Amino acid sequence: MNVLVSGGAGYVGSHAARMLSRAGHEVWAYDNLVFGHRGAVAPGRLIEGDLLDRGKVVATLREKQIDAVMHFAAFAYVGESVTDPAKYYRNNVVGTLSLMDAMREAGVWRIVFSSTCATYGEPRSVPIGEDQPQNPINPYGYTKLVIERALADFARAYGWGYAALRYFNAAGASADGDLGEDHDPETHLIPLVLQVAQGRREHITIFGDRLPTPDGTCIRDYIHVDDLASAHISALEKLRPGTEFRCNLGTGRGTSVKEVIEACREVTGHAIPAVVAPPREGDPPALVADAGLARRELGWTPRFTSIGPIVESAWKWHQSHPDGYGA
Ligand code: UDP
Repeated sequence: MNVLVSGGAGYVGSHAARMLSRAGHEVWAYDNLVFGHRGAVAPGRLIEGDLLDRGKVVATLREKQIDAVMHFAAFAYVGESVTDPAKYYRNNVVGTLSLMDAMREAGVWRIVFSSTCATYGEPRSVPIGEDQPQNPINPYGYTKLVIERALADFARAYGWGYAALRYFNAAGASADGDLGEDHDPETHLIPLVLQVAQGRREHITIFGDRLPTPDGTCIRDYIHVDDLASAHISALEKLRPGTEFRCNLGTGRGTSVKEVIEACREVTGHAIPAVVAPPREGDPPALVADAGLARRELGWTPRFTSIGPIVESAWKWHQSHPDGYGA
């Protein structure tokens, strides 16, 4: 297939684009490079543009005879979405609807969409199944939920086939260490802990150690970025007119903040000082996927099922790219 990967210069998008291309698809990354990195895209495969530039998107879809879109481009800082929701609704909602209009105009009906476990908000119980109510607790989660809804409506009205894949915590880097996580600012746990190991930060701050979890720190379901990528490809290849996949992407295994730090100590051999601070507002104590549906519907299984190898892959990237793609 000819596939347009919006946000193809970003963290998850770049891994998916490379895997798609290795699976024999023709791939173009469409990215405005606000957060994406030119160095994360294969030479000659980047189309620099904004999703809100509908004319450019339509022209690209037509010119490259695109069969399917993988849509990763989005702003994803939860805290910023609370202080500047307009920016999030414009980019994540209006931008995506503009992309969807462009797809209709160009006759493209397949789309795999990056959704998030943030659409569930505070879970009723853990592990979280897809049938739990979706009640986001921040604008970021709402922007993703709105698009899930729009996709369902487009599937029913226009016969689109789509997958809305609800990621848990994306982590790790490609096996060869060529692609990895490079956010500015960095807010995610694993890269921050590894920056402490590199001596680039003094310590890691643990947000809360008296939460209702076995060791008192927050539990998350860390899923390797290449496993996310392979799930997208499995979904894409199964899309038919009217197909609706709404699946969690996680391992089904929870890891606490303390366990992540310990795994980083083991992998790097560095002491990694940690300081405890109050919990971060709006951080649920535990978010773990019920990961069964993606296995059943997409025929997908994550290869990385424990935190150690995920951290190892991230460490390889951090060591070979201490300044990220800017190096
Ligand atoms: N976390 C932490 N210290 C940090 C960054 C994150 O203790 O400096 C915790 C955070 O409270 C959450 C987990 O690590 O429980 C993962 O956070 P991250 O920001 O990576 O992803 P999130 O789960 O917020 O999407």
